[in-house]
Amino acid sequence: MELISTTRRLIEKVSALRYDQKTVGLVPTMGYLHEGHRSLLLRSVAENDITIMTLFVNPTQFGANEDLSTYPRDLERDLELARHAGVDIVFAPDNDQMYPDGSATWVEVDSPITTVLCGASRPGHFRGVTTIVTKLFGLVMPRRAYFGEKDFQQLAIIRRMTADLFLPIEIIGCPIVRESDGLAMSSRNSYLNPIQRRKGLYLSRAIAHAQELVRQGERNAHALRTALVDILPDDPEMRIDYIECVDTLTLQPLETLTCSCRLILAVYVDTTRLIDNAPLTIPTTETKE
Ligand code: AMP
Repeated sequence: MELISTTRRLIEKVSALRYDQKTVGLVPTMGYLHEGHRSLLLRSVAENDITIMTLFVNPTQFGANEDLSTYPRDLERDLELARHAGVDIVFAPDNDQMYPDGSATWVEVDSPITTVLCGASRPGHFRGVTTIVTKLFGLVMPRRAYFGEKDFQQLAIIRRMTADLFLPIEIIGCPIVRESDGLAMSSRNSYLNPIQRRKGLYLSRAIAHAQELVRQGERNAHALRTALVDILPDDPEMRIDYIECVDTLTLQPLETLTCSCRLILAVYVDTTRLIDNAPLTIPTTETKE
């Protein structure tokens, strides 16, 4: 496995791979890797000749009051995990490599899918994401790129951007990997002390509760949401950012659940913001009038 830190070396390496007609899979990450990241790496290794993982805590996707300076980092551990997963190249640039002096181009998906949910709570976040992902796509020009459904809105926005820019890259969405008790894995879980970590189980429990209510026949999104707010523990440390039932493709909130519906939520435990999502399965026969 080769560790590359400059765009210049990466471009050299990628041109040699292209000359050799190797298929390249790209897995962008911000590091502090866990099993969720590993699932993306393993899929890329299985489907491509070469897997390139990027490791970059992208400053432009963090808001002024967010956790850029405290974001967890452990390069040695990440390299070990990547090596074991079969990664061929790790690209770990610093800020000056990705945003050299004079860089002035932003990529922004101008659509309601970017303004709802996390887009509403974190202004500018998705502009940072789409800009860095476009830069990485430009450098690596992969055949396939792998993203987790954990960041469901991000995945939808990257699909939109890739289609709009006619980029010849297949975007592969990978299922959420969870801890055995249901907590969706996240680098940010490391911020939680043991008590807060237990509180974080609210998200996966809310999903399970919603799925049960839907199974029992609930179809009203407002009623569903109210039921989920009702089971939020009465705890000053916990605060709902959003809970929505959205259309899987447009991410717009629904009033009545359809057969293509996703529950998506963001909840603060103290200052740590946790996100999760899952499909709400409704029989297709119900919505075919
Ligand atoms: P991050 O390092 O948080 O930017 O995540 C890098 C990639 O890993 C993104 O595509 C995430 O959606 C994905 N990812 C993060 N957590 C998980 C998880 N629990 N399951 C599956 N994919 C994940």
